[in-house]
Amino acid sequence: MSIAPTIAVKLKEIAGPHGFSEDPAEIAPHLEEWRSKYHGHSTLLLKPSHTEQVSQILALCNESNTPIVPQGGNTGLVGGQIPFHGEVLLSLARMNRIRTVDAHGMSLIAEAGVILADVQRTAEDAGRYFPLSLAAEGSCTIGGNLSTNAGGVNVLRYGNTRELVLGLEVVLADGRVLNLLRTLRKDNTGYDLKQLFIGAEGTLGVITAAALKLFPVPGIRTTAFAAITDPEAAVALLSHLQDETGGLISAFELIPRIGLEFVLAHMPQTADPLSAPSPWYVLTEAAGPRGMDMHGVIEASLAAAMEAGLVRDATIAQNETQRAQFWRLRESLSESQKPEGGSIKHDVSLPIARIPEFLARASAAVIAKVPGARPVPFGHIGDGNIHFNISVPKGGDNAAFLAQWETVNRIVHDIVREFGGSISAEHGLGVMKHNEIARYKGADEIAVMQALKRTLDPRNILNPGKVLPDSD
Ligand code: FAD
Ligand code: ZN
Repeated sequence: MSIAPTIAVKLKEIAGPHGFSEDPAEIAPHLEEWRSKYHGHSTLLLKPSHTEQVSQILALCNESNTPIVPQGGNTGLVGGQIPFHGEVLLSLARMNRIRTVDAHGMSLIAEAGVILADVQRTAEDAGRYFPLSLAAEGSCTIGGNLSTNAGGVNVLRYGNTRELVLGLEVVLADGRVLNLLRTLRKDNTGYDLKQLFIGAEGTLGVITAAALKLFPVPGIRTTAFAAITDPEAAVALLSHLQDETGGLISAFELIPRIGLEFVLAHMPQTADPLSAPSPWYVLTEAAGPRGMDMHGVIEASLAAAMEAGLVRDATIAQNETQRAQFWRLRESLSESQKPEGGSIKHDVSLPIARIPEFLARASAAVIAKVPGARPVPFGHIGDGNIHFNISVPKGGDNAAFLAQWETVNRIVHDIVREFGGSISAEHGLGVMKHNEIARYKGADEIAVMQALKRTLDPRNILNPGKVLPDSD
């Protein structure tokens, strides 16, 4: 489809001279996501700088049945931010002001286009802490984080993005501005409407600003890298560390040996923190009050875990540089898979105690279907969330391997369902899994989602073809 020329003229007028682009070279990077899995097309990029402009843009799109795709930092992993059918592309990147910071009230209000790392820095400057943290934090935006209900590495202690939000400002499909931008901790005046837009991937409204929760800065932080024999040991070790610290573990990440090997082979300035290889590792972090001997507590807990046979070897970061080196290993896992060839991804969550059994079953099933395929399961095991990525067999044909994406997804997702899990833990559905949910969610659940969509976006202009399954 193409955008009607008369509508394009009006949209450009609303956005103002610096608020749009029709230059294919400027639009191009917005049409492709970082893994180059999805490619879109659009002839008009709008870059509003104020909520009022977003409101007028949506009102006009709605009136003229012109579909529009919101985009933040374009780091989403399920293609939700890509216009596939020539839709208008709405970048929130210029809406990047911090409106207020309330250190005592422990909140700040940020516009949707503020980069996550800038929110973290603003909090820090105010002597506060914003815990949302993920490898894309230097380029993803608060609007995108909210719209995907992003997880990341601190969910164990602080929850998903959803739990870090006090209020929202949202522009509805018809242009009305829904002001839910309250900073109240308690507000039981009926339905909690803001929650509808969090995780909706831009299908129910456009988020223009958010009131976010801030936290006290953790006084001390201890980061450890531990070698373990198997995922069962990881599950038991988490329980043990939570008991020993009184629940102060803030991150607990699983790393398989093959993943570490990819990182060591492809990422400069990385080194194995331990002397002997181990089939599995965990990277864990505990945060507690100033004055507490957290280092001592973690050291003693790991020593006890070694005696109990849960841990083979472990090392504790002695300073910030070493801490950053440990985290770099974890955060490079995705990227270091690229030079190894194609990778079929899954972002699944399961009851944590069932993860070891799931990993064994799913790995065996995938290898039975694709001999030589290399499972690289890693991630937020503390939240029951595994990025079950499968790399192409060594020396195998990339295209032939990737052609099996859906077949492999089906095998893995069916096992996820059998184990009572979810086929999307933190990345969302986008275009990648929007039809998959027809198989894995209840018909009534999907019917209610569709009813909400019809109510809030009756003309289906907001990010059409995403999240909800195609109707037959
Ligand atoms: P985009 O990619 O631009 O958009 C994502 C979705 O939100 C799209 O559907 C888009 O239409 C919609 N959207 C964007 N802005 C708005 C808005 N203002 N209003 C309405 N809809 C909007 N995710 C995790 O949860 N945990 C991780 O640990 C994690 N790690 C990652 C690591 C890397 C290296 C990368 C590349 C991605 C990772 N992600 C992770 C994916 C994650 O979803 C994104 O990084 C982030 O949350 C998306 O933000 P964004 O601004 O880039 O959004
Ligand atoms: Zn993740």
